[in-house]
Amino acid sequence: MNVNNTLENSVSIIKGIGEETESQLASMGIFTVLDLLEHFPYRFDDYRLRDLQDVEHDEKVTVEGKVQSEPSLVFYNRKRSRLTIHLLVGKNLIKIFFFNQPYLKKKISISDTITVSGKWDRHRGTITAQELKIGPYQKNADFEPVYTVRGSLTVKSLRKFIRLAFQSYGNQINENLPEDLIKKYKLLPRRDAMKMMHFPITQEDVKQARRRFVYEEFLFFQLKMQALRKFEREHSGGISQHYDLNKLRAFFDLLPFPLTNAQKRVINEICADLKSPYRMNRLLQGDVGSGKTVVAAVALFASWTAGFQGALMVPTEILAEQHAVSLQNMLGQAGLNIELLTSSIKGKKREGLLERLRKGEIHVLVGTHALIQDDVHFNKLGLVITDEQHRFGVEQRRVLREKGVTPDVLFMTATPIPRTLAITAFGEMDVSVIDEMPAGRKRIETYWAKNEMLEKVLRFVEKELIKGRQAYIICPLIEESEKLDLQNAIDVYQMLTDYYYDKFKVGLMHGRLHPAEKENVMKAFSDNDIQILVSTTVVEVGVNVPNATIMVIYDAERFGLSQLHQLRGRVGRGQDQSYCFLLANPKTDVGKERMKIMIETNDGFVLSEKDLELRGPGDFFGKKQSGLPEFKVADMVHDYRALEVARNDAAQLIIQKDFWHDQKYHYLRKYLEESGVMDGEKLD
Ligand code: ADP
Ligand code: MG
Repeated sequence: MNVNNTLENSVSIIKGIGEETESQLASMGIFTVLDLLEHFPYRFDDYRLRDLQDVEHDEKVTVEGKVQSEPSLVFYNRKRSRLTIHLLVGKNLIKIFFFNQPYLKKKISISDTITVSGKWDRHRGTITAQELKIGPYQKNADFEPVYTVRGSLTVKSLRKFIRLAFQSYGNQINENLPEDLIKKYKLLPRRDAMKMMHFPITQEDVKQARRRFVYEEFLFFQLKMQALRKFEREHSGGISQHYDLNKLRAFFDLLPFPLTNAQKRVINEICADLKSPYRMNRLLQGDVGSGKTVVAAVALFASWTAGFQGALMVPTEILAEQHAVSLQNMLGQAGLNIELLTSSIKGKKREGLLERLRKGEIHVLVGTHALIQDDVHFNKLGLVITDEQHRFGVEQRRVLREKGVTPDVLFMTATPIPRTLAITAFGEMDVSVIDEMPAGRKRIETYWAKNEMLEKVLRFVEKELIKGRQAYIICPLIEESEKLDLQNAIDVYQMLTDYYYDKFKVGLMHGRLHPAEKENVMKAFSDNDIQILVSTTVVEVGVNVPNATIMVIYDAERFGLSQLHQLRGRVGRGQDQSYCFLLANPKTDVGKERMKIMIETNDGFVLSEKDLELRGPGDFFGKKQSGLPEFKVADMVHDYRALEVARNDAAQLIIQKDFWHDQKYHYLRKYLEESGVMDGEKLD
């Protein structure tokens, strides 16, 4: 980030860094002097003297005191021992324990003044010592930075190298943020912040240094996102879709219900994108049941009135089939031709369908990934909508581009993404949110039942079934697994078939069924030929059977909050009161906490924030593929306010004319260049 030559030199110019150390540093991603200076401590050991009154139980503390007794040593066996002394700290007489350091007996004498750091047992008035210094406490060592290290490199040696680096080259550290922002937020200059980050004297130093770097990191990151967004919009060859507002209004009257205000708002946002010459790149978030399908239908309709075809892409065939039916119901009456394309449609049927698509006779094509295969050609594709397609990304968009189409793209998701993650992971996208449920929706009553209470739950289920309702029973696994003692769908299916023998019909659904079988089962459930559907999580997204009011989830502790919420969202879709039972015997506190949160709230956004808190950002999107950036100092969850501030500032900067040439933004531009976001040609 800095252009200064010396700072860009190899760390080997620092005294004491030889070949071995150099390669160890390299393995940590530290090559230059600046890299070394930007290797920040991940925590600080706090050696300040504190009044024991203020120290929490089990907290680490440093005390200074006068030894009141000769050390007494007890051996448990040959290796394990405990040395005890009485120490007068202020007015408190406390006991200090040293474990397995018998040799200290000779070093400590009565009436010595010593300084001890260790863990404070508030109840017993004892400290289990970790560090000892004979003599009084010495100021200036309040905080010791602790760094991550690798191999034989020690924290101590790293401290030394960083100190040397700072002493010799610290004066070359340049400011990289514009003056006005530094002033506005009263940030420390970069050089001072660097110093306080490595050699703080007070807690406040650490706080201020951190504050500065958090902002810096977020601002640079958001600048990149905002620049990407700007260039995407301006240079992706989007189309202006001049839809017919009158026809659109008439279409609203055909709908079986009035739109909610939130639906109207997001429709406006989407329509503005359709009309603009920019390419739409929008994320539509809405909790399960918030009514995203109708929004998709309206967008597809608008695009059709402008003379374009549309595509709706979903992850599973079941969902594709359901969406095709829903869209048929809404758009068919307005004169649109809707077709379904999945991998199970083959041969002549497929050929005919592709032919009609090429001619423009099909207006909306619904399907799975089959939609973007080589032989699928649209006549005039204007809009692509994806539902719950987390993996529809750069690659798929490239495929579309190579077919010569750069349609507007709308990504729909019912997985509420916490705001902080949304603006990080999808920082280059526009985001619309449906934050309102259709009127009259009843809250799904949720209960947590221990496994032993299954019988009771089943009796409750039966009562609802007698009233004419239907139930989902979700199991984590398909077949018996010996390793994990989990309920599997096939066993549960058999058990329930026996249990409800004669009275109700039970169906089985899982990912290994043939698509045709899946379709049959789903249709039977949808037609109420089956009253109980035992299933794995394949019914997780999208499936809509309003008469189903009961959701029982086996081994609920196995699922994340967001997934439980998705599953629960399969019920509560009709007029009747719905219920969700979580069968779980969680062993951990976090597990229990999860169940409680599920009972307390039906709000997907609240749940996703909690999920993020309990699981951390890395896990939120599932393993490595998260695409989340890594920050050195900043923490997306805890520093989210700074993230929002930085995002606004970045958005503001990007549209400022002088940003692109004024000297004061030199470093910001340079950063964009280095991160490959800015190729000169694209600049005005
Ligand atoms: P999701 O956002 O989970 O995809 P859906 O689009 O499946 O939600 O809608 C859930 C249910 O709510 C559907 O049965 C749909 O017909 C109904 N619905 C959608 N919008 C409204 C509305 N404005 N008023 C009443 N019911 C609505
Ligand atoms: Mg949906």
